[in-house]
Amino acid sequence: MKKNPIIWTNVLLFSSSFLVAAVAAPYYALTIGFTAVEIIAMILCMGYCGIAITAGYHRLWSHKTYDAHPILQWIFAIGGAFALQNSVIHWASDHRDHHRHVDDNDKDPYSAGKGFWYSHIGWMLRDYQGDTYNNYNNVRDLQKNPILAFQHKHYLSLALLTNIGVPVLLGFIFGNMWGMLLSVGVLRLVLSHHFTFFINSLAHIWGKQTYTDQNSARDNGILALLTYGEGYHNYHHIFEYDYRNGIRWWQFDPTKWLIKSCSWLKLTWNLRTVPEDRIAQAVAKMQLKRAQQKAMLLPNSEQLLQLLEQEYQLLMVKLQAYYQLKKDFLQQRRAALVNQYNASEFAQRYQELKEHLQQQQNHWQRLTAAFQ
Ligand SMILES: [Zn+2]
Ligand SMILES: [Zn+2]
Repeated sequence: MKKNPIIWTNVLLFSSSFLVAAVAAPYYALTIGFTAVEIIAMILCMGYCGIAITAGYHRLWSHKTYDAHPILQWIFAIGGAFALQNSVIHWASDHRDHHRHVDDNDKDPYSAGKGFWYSHIGWMLRDYQGDTYNNYNNVRDLQKNPILAFQHKHYLSLALLTNIGVPVLLGFIFGNMWGMLLSVGVLRLVLSHHFTFFINSLAHIWGKQTYTDQNSARDNGILALLTYGEGYHNYHHIFEYDYRNGIRWWQFDPTKWLIKSCSWLKLTWNLRTVPEDRIAQAVAKMQLKRAQQKAMLLPNSEQLLQLLEQEYQLLMVKLQAYYQLKKDFLQQRRAALVNQYNASEFAQRYQELKEHLQQQQNHWQRLTAAFQ
């Protein structure tokens, strides 16, 4: 079979920058040594590139999980060019295809089904998509955004300006051109590239499938540390319209923290989240599925399956009752129908349902854990 043509620009770019980062930078570090200023500047620039991709390219534009002030949009658009990950329009087009056709080896541009290398970087080294690549049918909404149209049109100039301009400027200011070129120029670029690429490769291979097993995406707290919170990829693939990826307070998701903090400054608004009951339902459904698979292998499987089904239904009833009451109350409060009397009645009923749900949830946890 004929192989797809090699994209030489990408091959040369990825291999030469990697070589410099793997050989020249360590050599420089051992012989001359990077200063604290160079290391701090590299970390800050790496964070800027990373967040521009996760908060901007990914959660703002690919998935429209919130709205952002033009100032913030410009910051992200320039940061994405600095990260050298193509224009937003190009990136989001690929990414929307990735979600729509996840794991489909023909239609998912970086399908994890084709292995680690392919989903990490291989998909960019050859022209796999041919003519379909530049039609941008799925990003018409983004093409109408003047900031993104500008960034797309002038992507190359912006990329050169930031990738050469920033390290040269810093080198000039701090009086060490080679140190800045190696740290802020190359090392920052290579690390920021591969940390992002891990989301397409490792986050589809390594971790837990807490919310769904309908696709290969995984939740992985370690990857979240390198990817500004995007390691919670299993959650992201089932609830892609949520501006959060790590939804628990203890999960490391600086992208979420940034978006939320910006909302207090009126730089972001319309932050979208998935209702809690839908999340709880997804978790319980996965737990049921796993327990059923184990129960089938046991001698008294029929009774066990029945028990699981009963307890699961009970959990669903209690979940629904609790969240329905909460929703009704909030609706009434918004319509100003709540007076002192029904507020106290609500509080009592709410506490009752909450306790019922918690009891059943504990019971359910113990039951499903027994099947692990
Ligand atoms: Zn996504
Ligand atoms: Zn993915």
